[in-house]
Amino acid sequence: TAGDRASDLVTRTTCGYCGVGCTLDVHTRDTGILAVTPAPDGPVNRGHACVKGRFAYGFVRSPDRLTTPLVRRSDRLEPATWDEALDVVGRELARIRDRHGPDAIAAISSARSTNEENYLLQKLMRTAIGTNNVDNCSRICHAPSAAGLIASFGLAGGTNPAEDLDVADCLLVAGANVTQAHPVIGARIVQAALRGARLVVVDPRRTELARLADVHLRGRPGSNVAVFNGLARLLLDRGFVDEEFLAARADGVEELRELLADYPPDRVADLSGVPPDALAAAAEAYGTARRPAIVYGLGITEHVHGTDGVRTLANLAILRGAVGTPHGMGVSPLRGQNNVQGASDMGALPDVLPGYQRVDDPLVRERFAAAWGTPVPERPGLRIPEMFDAALAGRVRAMYVFGEDILATDPNSGHVRAALDACDFVVSQEIFPSATAQVADVVLPGSSFLEKDGTFVNFDRRFQRVRPALDPPGQAYTDFDVLRAVGDALGVDLGCSDPAAALAECAELTPVFAGISHERLDREGALHWPCRRLDDPGEARLYGTAFATPDGRAHLAARPWLPPGEPPDADFPYALITGRRLVHYNSGTMTRRTPNLALVPGEHLDLHPDDARRLGVGEGDPVEITSRRGMVTAPARVTDEVAVGEVFLTFAFPDVPANLLTSSEVDEVTSCPEYKLTAVRLRRA
Ligand code: SF4
Repeated sequence: TAGDRASDLVTRTTCGYCGVGCTLDVHTRDTGILAVTPAPDGPVNRGHACVKGRFAYGFVRSPDRLTTPLVRRSDRLEPATWDEALDVVGRELARIRDRHGPDAIAAISSARSTNEENYLLQKLMRTAIGTNNVDNCSRICHAPSAAGLIASFGLAGGTNPAEDLDVADCLLVAGANVTQAHPVIGARIVQAALRGARLVVVDPRRTELARLADVHLRGRPGSNVAVFNGLARLLLDRGFVDEEFLAARADGVEELRELLADYPPDRVADLSGVPPDALAAAAEAYGTARRPAIVYGLGITEHVHGTDGVRTLANLAILRGAVGTPHGMGVSPLRGQNNVQGASDMGALPDVLPGYQRVDDPLVRERFAAAWGTPVPERPGLRIPEMFDAALAGRVRAMYVFGEDILATDPNSGHVRAALDACDFVVSQEIFPSATAQVADVVLPGSSFLEKDGTFVNFDRRFQRVRPALDPPGQAYTDFDVLRAVGDALGVDLGCSDPAAALAECAELTPVFAGISHERLDREGALHWPCRRLDDPGEARLYGTAFATPDGRAHLAARPWLPPGEPPDADFPYALITGRRLVHYNSGTMTRRTPNLALVPGEHLDLHPDDARRLGVGEGDPVEITSRRGMVTAPARVTDEVAVGEVFLTFAFPDVPANLLTSSEVDEVTSCPEYKLTAVRLRRA
């Protein structure tokens, strides 16, 4: 437990793991952490934290931390001084920009890092380099949420605060293993269910929440749109819709009704595997609730029709008048990483500046150009998957990878590796010698969330303060300082003398953040955006009077179900789903370097007992998993959490590199990869 001696310090900050945004108190003595405890008055967590936020902090003083810059010499990464490393970065980026043009350089920003650091990186790319080639990992997780929610409602965020989950009387949880991936929200949903709220779970796996649910719609991977269309049809057929709301505040009803003629329950059952009686029970639960809420995750977005999945799910809330109304508990995307919402909000995206202001809008560009003192490039830049293709085609010659281990986390990692190899120059700004750092030309040691000053935005659009409990180790700098130094190395002063100044500059240029500042957050606590003035309390609940679409109305989407990118077939008959487990986080870079490793020391393949019997595989036996792109081996965990014909893996362990298997199939609208369905074959190794 934390000591209470006068010399001990308690630093209040925000968890750096998932997008729930728990407030944590970090207890330090000298330069070490004694304990991390959940803040009893944390606005989202209210005294709770999960096994990651509470216990997985030991990585911060791991002997593996990068403590000095590294520069590749004679094909080896060797320690260098900051002057040497920055000199190489500045010289090589300037050379490539001047010889091949600014668009020959691309950057991937970091959803683990603060808003202020993301603001600085996109500013660096747009000013010092002169390109919009900047993207962040929302591309590979929740880009369909931004696109879908903007199209349906107007803004790129969830509609309601976490508090509304407590008063919902029906929770429809779709494509989200909440008790493992967002545990504090998962606990809140479990508590709501135990208090009597009805629970509908849409998930191919029998998750903990599915076992607790009143109705579990266990569709096959890739069938979301069919299921949501089937539910929408039942809502309309049974009169579970708010006609007054639809007439006054929505459009597209007739077009949707026409499409839904093709989605009777028996056809939905054929397309998805969801029995008609389960579909009817779910429609009745959501359709008759007085305060219905929808919560969803990557099981909706990470599909080739992920944006359609978001839009057809949003249809249900619109039909019920359950968004933008006092009884509507809205639609909440559970963002994956701690600051994936904020990285996008800050404009680390190829087509928008901070606050989703479009780069192809001349008035927006003029405003930023006047503040930054340099023109803003007009042409939208490349998305992450396009960056890799462009590198292989010789159009991108340099990549700046900030706080992401793309060789572990991005799909089809053989393709990613080939793209990095094709570049003339790769920079990795990292805290550990990740797989990506190991192939870089220069590695710049940055900071963990426990060493950062700034803000994150959580899944319900809440800006929260991040405060440093420790200094970065050795010669590592905060990422904010590293990015400013890279600007200097390119001969450009990025301004923003500290993180507070960076957020102030961003707020001045971005109407929806205009009322947010470090000073205000320190004084008042968290603030939801939009927050347009210094006396604006922020909008926790959106669309009370009008939607933020151009016509002020919610837009129903008539979208048909279309087949997934790589359905199982005779050669690759199993559907592989990738995802997360409770104890480790994403690529495991941080959690594997903590005592959490003792809880889950390795990866395993979840396999149904019938499939295990057919393959002659017992518990713990090694299984070869082969896709069209590669093969990995993992020990079997025989469980009916997965359905017959479906298997599950995470990518938390480098010895089971699941993304060697995943495909380059992407969402047609946003280029988000289809992590949730890869065709594989299995055999006992
Ligand atoms: Fe951190 Fe998420 Fe766990 Fe909260 S639920 S402690 S934000 S990992």
